[in-house]
Amino acid sequence: MAKNYGEDLYGNESDACSFCGAKRRDGAILLSSSKGCNICSKCIAKGYQMLIENDVLHDEAASRRKEQKNTSLKFEDLLKPNEIKEFLDQYVIGQDDAKRYMSVAVYNHYKRLLHASGEASEVELDKSNILLVGPTGTGKTLMARTIAKLLNVPFTIVDATVLTEAGYVGEDVESILSRLLQVASYDVELAQRGIVFIDEIDKIARKSDNPSLTRDVSGEGVQQALLKILEGTVVNVPPQGGRKHPEQQFVQVDTRNILFICGGAFPELEEIIKERLNQEASIGFRAKLKDEYDKDENLLSKVTVEDVRKFGMIPEFLGRLPILFTLEPLSEDTLVRILQEPKNAILKQYEKLLAMDEVKLAFDEDALRAIAHKAKEKKVGARALRAVIEEFMLDIMYEIPKDDNIGMVTITKDYVEKKGSPVITLRGCIGIGSTENPQIAASN
Ligand code: ADP
Repeated sequence: MAKNYGEDLYGNESDACSFCGAKRRDGAILLSSSKGCNICSKCIAKGYQMLIENDVLHDEAASRRKEQKNTSLKFEDLLKPNEIKEFLDQYVIGQDDAKRYMSVAVYNHYKRLLHASGEASEVELDKSNILLVGPTGTGKTLMARTIAKLLNVPFTIVDATVLTEAGYVGEDVESILSRLLQVASYDVELAQRGIVFIDEIDKIARKSDNPSLTRDVSGEGVQQALLKILEGTVVNVPPQGGRKHPEQQFVQVDTRNILFICGGAFPELEEIIKERLNQEASIGFRAKLKDEYDKDENLLSKVTVEDVRKFGMIPEFLGRLPILFTLEPLSEDTLVRILQEPKNAILKQYEKLLAMDEVKLAFDEDALRAIAHKAKEKKVGARALRAVIEEFMLDIMYEIPKDDNIGMVTITKDYVEKKGSPVITLRGCIGIGSTENPQIAASN
């Protein structure tokens, strides 16, 4: 039978979806086959959904949600603190004490969840939110993020500096939970078992010890507003975050089982600790001890709740963060290990990048030390490592792909310190001879 003009093989209008009839002229987006059939974007989406539901296609996000939901908590499945620490060891280098504290705290948190979902008991286990104190770039966020990865629960990082007391410019504290809902793809049940990391918590310290006439809306006001959320309550959360307003739809989130980890660098806390330790010391030894404390790099580890209160956190707030522990400043040795050991270590990443050009990348031992030394001087913890490496790797990444003969590049201490060039070994000569590359040295 002859096909009418403007129809497909099956007699459908040629500019319309062969499945649902949606027309291009009405705005439908059509995929056309060479045989004259069309399918619109809506029908493609329906088909995609059908494939996922029948497990023909794998949608990672959907299956992760399914997996997270299906894992109902059983005591025998709980990871023991030593197992949690072993997992942390793969990503977080050093910080052994902090990792032990964190492992026990997380273990207890999940025991508490089991306890709460079990039979009624006279003993109620308190919620154990965590306060992490440590210099910037020492692994506070990394540790919280790694724990969330291990537990396969929704995790979000929020910045305390954007929060203000309700009614003032800034974000309401409930927006913290909007973010958690978003990462849990609006699955409330899942979000209620998640972990929230509140960064820069020291920035919401009370602005001054004297109650003044002006309200402290981004300091004490925020601490007050956070109390209920940290303790556990049902909160009306605006799903898209931002400021609450009357016409808005809210999602109710119960925060009882959400683990809150707060982290901050607390810059002047060391002075407060030093002052307290000096007061505690007997008068006779005072001068000597003062000297000792001045030199103590890890004074933060001697922190008490009282010190943090003096810093400006209100007692009710601290009462809701019963687990307090510190992270140490990173030594040069630890920085060298951070370069090499974590699962996604920076050096491994660069090695992989150059391996794609079939070039081997090697670092002399003293070059690693020079990188760590430079990074330490920047006083931003391990965060400086990438910046230091990028400074010289840029030239290498630029020059190497130009020359097919290069088989290996060895980074030397002199190169890191901008006094020389890397050692270049030609393809086929690896392990035999090498040459310095003046081009790379010149541009470094
Ligand atoms: P902060 O303590 O300021 O929260 P982060 O945890 O965000 O610091 O660390 C910044 C970066 O430095 C991380 O992405 C990580 O790569 C690296 N880093 C910091 N501390 C460690 C550590 N102890 N072990 C491994 N990497 C670390």
